[in-house]
Amino acid sequence: MTRAIALAQDPEDIRAQKEYIAYSKEAHSYSPAIQRLLELSEDYVPGAERAFKAGKPAIWCQANGFVPVLLYSLGVIPVAAGEMGRYSAKEDMLIAEDTYQFPVETCSMVKCVVAQWHKRAKTGTINRILANSSGCEPYNMAWEIVKKHGYDVFSNEIIYRGPTVKGERLEQLVKFTIGQMLDVAEWLTGKRAVDESRLKVEIARKNRLLGKLRQVLELRRAHPFYMKSLAIILTLNVGLNNYFGKPEEFERAIDELILELTKAPINEKELQKVIALVWAGGVGQEFGIYEAIDQAGGALLGLRSVPFRLYRQDLPPLESIARWIYDNSNAGAGVYAREVLDSEVERLKARGVILYGYIGCSYSTVNREMFRRFFHEKGVACVNLEGSFQTGAPTGQVLTRVKAFVEMLAA
Ligand code: SF4
Repeated sequence: MTRAIALAQDPEDIRAQKEYIAYSKEAHSYSPAIQRLLELSEDYVPGAERAFKAGKPAIWCQANGFVPVLLYSLGVIPVAAGEMGRYSAKEDMLIAEDTYQFPVETCSMVKCVVAQWHKRAKTGTINRILANSSGCEPYNMAWEIVKKHGYDVFSNEIIYRGPTVKGERLEQLVKFTIGQMLDVAEWLTGKRAVDESRLKVEIARKNRLLGKLRQVLELRRAHPFYMKSLAIILTLNVGLNNYFGKPEEFERAIDELILELTKAPINEKELQKVIALVWAGGVGQEFGIYEAIDQAGGALLGLRSVPFRLYRQDLPPLESIARWIYDNSNAGAGVYAREVLDSEVERLKARGVILYGYIGCSYSTVNREMFRRFFHEKGVACVNLEGSFQTGAPTGQVLTRVKAFVEMLAA
């Protein structure tokens, strides 16, 4: 249900990501659950760094795929390095370019993260990094650089399922991935083994939360504006992967959200005017884009990371994790993500798809172009946006394109 709330800050004046979160909390003053989720997001990196200083193991990583489930079972907090983008500014770009000679055109995500590690080096904070060579070349360069600054970096190999891989080739990939997980366990604990019973607990938790998030997404269809764009994207694209470093608190907030959405009265007028959209990108750090979508009357009801399949609990836990990875949207080839997007467009009868990627990322550029052609041929409207990762307001051009797209769909 839409609430008319007098907000202390005009979103047009917001210049920093942290201010967007504060603004979003205020805009959700009617929902303690959404406010709590935003607080958990706000405190993800600082909370993990506090826990580390208090003696709890924590590592920087991508905090998605097999990593969070495995790490929580080993008692280690997975901290998504990309979340540091929120603290970055132009100065961080300069650190990456001047100190480390990153070319100007390098992806801003990598430059932000490297600069944040540079500032944190030898400050007594988290100093281990689980790298993943399925990231990209700029990231591979970043791991090598930060090793020289005292970080303990371990890199696991690429996780990639090509579009035609099945049968024996898929079985080989599954075995390979199980080996990768054991390598990570050995790096972290000194033993090439996992505690299967703890891993089963984490798989059960993940399945429970995947089910609960599906429920949230279904309830949002009747309450499209209750949870605004920034809040849902942080909850689904970040929180569902790694629980913002606090699994129990994340699950409690989701339970509370389900309760709130179940009790919220349905506003028929809102349902008639809603413009259902599917977001086909990562989180993005230009939070103002989400505000522009909300203001134009759009609702991000479907996302690329929507819970698709559950983990199989009838298999040994490492095998279950490996099979889940290759069965889902991030299995490798873009076609797997496209299947999820397509099923979201159908499920929601979405009016449009927003494709978003970072300037300088050749990987997402190719995927976005493939998705754009696919949806174009199906007659589904798409807008293809390129943004940057550093903190600050989005460029006027990106905002104008978002607003024009949503308003075109409304017309
Ligand atoms: S956005 Fe692209 S270039 Fe940047 S880190 Fe991610 S994969 Fe690499």
